[in-house]
Amino acid sequence: MTPREILIIGGGPAGAVCAERAARAGLGVTLLDDHLAWEKPCGGGLTHKALRAYPFLLDGPQRKKIVRQIELKAGDDPPAKIALDSPLVIYSRETLNGLLLDRAERAGCRIRLARAVSFDVSSARPMICLADGTQLQADFVVLAAGARNRLLPAASKPAPAPLAPADFEQTAGYYVPAESDILKIKFLPEFRGYLWSFPRADHLSVGICGKLDESSTATLRRHLDAYMDEEGLSREGARFYSHLLPSPRAQTLRSRPILGANWALAGDAAAMVDSITGEGIFYAMRSGELLGESLAAGHPETYPRRLRAEFGSELERAAGLAPRFYRERFLGAAITVRTIDFARRSPTFRRLLAGLFTGSQDYRTLPLRLWAQLPISLAEMAWSTLAGR
Ligand SMILES: Cc1cc2nc3c(=O)[nH]c(=O)nc-3n(C[C@H](O)[C@H](O)[C@H](O)COP(=O)(O)OP(=O)(O)OC[C@H]3O[C@@H](n4cnc5c(N)ncnc54)[C@H](O)[C@@H]3O)c2cc1C
Repeated sequence: MTPREILIIGGGPAGAVCAERAARAGLGVTLLDDHLAWEKPCGGGLTHKALRAYPFLLDGPQRKKIVRQIELKAGDDPPAKIALDSPLVIYSRETLNGLLLDRAERAGCRIRLARAVSFDVSSARPMICLADGTQLQADFVVLAAGARNRLLPAASKPAPAPLAPADFEQTAGYYVPAESDILKIKFLPEFRGYLWSFPRADHLSVGICGKLDESSTATLRRHLDAYMDEEGLSREGARFYSHLLPSPRAQTLRSRPILGANWALAGDAAAMVDSITGEGIFYAMRSGELLGESLAAGHPETYPRRLRAEFGSELERAAGLAPRFYRERFLGAAITVRTIDFARRSPTFRRLLAGLFTGSQDYRTLPLRLWAQLPISLAEMAWSTLAGR
């Protein structure tokens, strides 16, 4: 049966874009969110890849920060400065979520402030129970309730298991009343994760992420406080946040079902996040869009295949590379340290890194390009050392 009535749980980027696409195609769409447009803990950074796919994110009138310079640090070494040909854009999440929900509503989606507490898919038409006791039924349910989501279609075959601690990063951060034009990232020795300072229109989102099964919240707070002191950022008047960020292992992406007979997962609920960079907004929007299009075409079963063809394999590659990026060594130093070292002294390597940040460099061709460029990068490093002397 072609689903005509769609219920979407979660109005973040995944749910809102799915709702917009399905409603625009004439399906009956209701979206539930327990916050609606809110300041979801996040950096709010959108790569050029996201801006190419959704130009309204760059062209629209909403407040945002356009960033053209990145500073990368590892330990106490001096930073590498990378100029970007294509800008990154940083939104407050309240603004971004509001913008995407408005688009969904204008396309004809009904939007309700409500919390879903249970999700039963045992009958042909799945049933959702809300916190106020109301029950809702639809032909198809989209679960786009983010990383903390505990609702899963348990009775379904196949049934997705909850994500394991090894598939998450813990994050902590502050919204700091300060301004900057530079996006900063810092890697710490022997630590799988990074610190960031993302400039927004009228404040900074400063934070840290680390693997949930490897770093305690106290350790994250200690590193974060030390970083803020180092950057001269006061915690006075700064609002604290913490949240989970999916950081899926390759086997999780390969084997966890994201579609059943009358339900599908999108965005963070489906663990669609780059395990190296933590980029999730673009993948949430695009997975929502692919699902919305598959529903509109009357063929939801095509969604996993389309998602895999477009970026599922790329996310699997990122998941495979992430532990190596943080743990392995190259030319006698940690890869994170060598990356910054090369970026500081080799223009060729800087261009490659800029491509990774803007989304024009994929992980598939990365190893080959790194090896092909290695002699040039080494020569540039040697030249920079000699010139420095
Ligand atoms: C600290 C941090 C920094 C990040 N920085 C970046 C970044 O700079 N760039 C980037 O691309 N990605 C970043 N990410 C990842 C990004 O935030 C997520 O990938 C993205 O928000 C996923 O979108 P989503 O729609 O799947 O889920 P969410 O944005 O989490 O939206 C889920 C929605 O569902 C609602 N909800 C949950 N449960 C229920 C329920 N039971 N009933 C009703 N509603 C419910 C929630 O209120 C929420 O609005 C960051 C993540 C974290 C934690």
